[in-house]
Amino acid sequence: MTDSELNKKVYLKSGKEESLLRFHPWVFSGAIARVEGEPAEGEVVDVYTSKKEFIARGHFQVGSITVRVLTFTDEPIDHAYWVRRLTVARELRRSLHLIDNPQNNTYRLVHGEGDNLPGLIIDVYDRTAVMQAHSAGMHLDRKAIAEALKEVMGDVIENIYYKSETTLPFKADLLERENGFLYGGSPEDVAMENGLKFHVDWLKGQKTGFFVDQRENRHLLERYAEGRSVLNMFCYTGGFSFYAMRGGARLVHSVDSSAKAIDLTNQNVALNFPDDSRHAAFAEDAFKFLDRMGDQYDLIILDPPAFAKHRGALRNALRGYTKLNAKALEKIRSGGILFTFSCSQVVSKVDFRNAVFTAAAQSGRSVRILHQLTQPGDHPVNIYHPEGEYLKGLVLYVE
Ligand code: SAH
Repeated sequence: MTDSELNKKVYLKSGKEESLLRFHPWVFSGAIARVEGEPAEGEVVDVYTSKKEFIARGHFQVGSITVRVLTFTDEPIDHAYWVRRLTVARELRRSLHLIDNPQNNTYRLVHGEGDNLPGLIIDVYDRTAVMQAHSAGMHLDRKAIAEALKEVMGDVIENIYYKSETTLPFKADLLERENGFLYGGSPEDVAMENGLKFHVDWLKGQKTGFFVDQRENRHLLERYAEGRSVLNMFCYTGGFSFYAMRGGARLVHSVDSSAKAIDLTNQNVALNFPDDSRHAAFAEDAFKFLDRMGDQYDLIILDPPAFAKHRGALRNALRGYTKLNAKALEKIRSGGILFTFSCSQVVSKVDFRNAVFTAAAQSGRSVRILHQLTQPGDHPVNIYHPEGEYLKGLVLYVE
């Protein structure tokens, strides 16, 4: 029997195939007329139009997104499928010069929908791939994916660490959702980004251990750092701080409310610039620090966590971005540069720019936009899935 005969079927309401014809990879529950044969959460199902024509195959899940599409053609989801998808992902990173680059062994190899693999994230740190499932389907297929990954990456990767304890949907009553190595098990935890070293805490750190998505924006910051007094707010593992130091900053202050993050930042700074007295780190709330600080900084980075995780939180989030940016804009020195970011997916580029515009107006400063930043090429946006664009940044010159 072929796959199409074996898989359970989801039938769409009439006219609801439109978005799938344009390769959007999600089927919402409201578009479905009926589901045949009670598929389990995470099972591979086939999607049919109301005219009973095959249109897509994907992972079934409980919730408003009912199917995450793996393919729009009638091909089996087997070893060869995972190998094909991962090979395309690898070749894309190769064209970005991220593979076999002695200066940089840190990159995102798979970015969910951006790589036509909805619900799957794989970050590479030197010889270790850290894999995260955001859907039940990817969780159930994790061993098949790890096997294909080993084949596609060959010697480039020795260890595969699976980290999905906190990313899987709660509704899914899944077994074995613990973190652990699927391959290898090296304790080696130092990776390199653009020639700078850092420890990766994939066992306990946030996301897959490091924020890979700021690589190019950090590099840009380095070019502005010479002779400046830098405040790296929401520093986490200190990424922006060590670039600022290499760029010749006069002093660098890193701030994060988490003591653990401050520890990591200090370790990473020591790894690259041992005994360098230009750096100091503070475990403190951002808003409190901005209120009590003076006007000594002329390069400030604001890279907060997502203020809105869903649509309902949008208005409050925008107010949060305005308040935060207003505080920095009030105090930054004349001729200062502000790198400001939002990683909330529900906050659009225009929303964010308006929030910063309001902050600028409140501060009464003369402000110009020098750069408009986004996520790097190893976090690609599938053109049929614009929701995949999440990172927004502005570099401002403050008179
Ligand atoms: N800029 C970092 C990533 C920032 S992630 C990088 O380049 O890697 C967001 C960070 O904000 C987390 O480390 C979190 O601990 C910190 N954070 C969250 N709320 C905070 C607050 N109110 N004040 C200061 N830091 C905060």
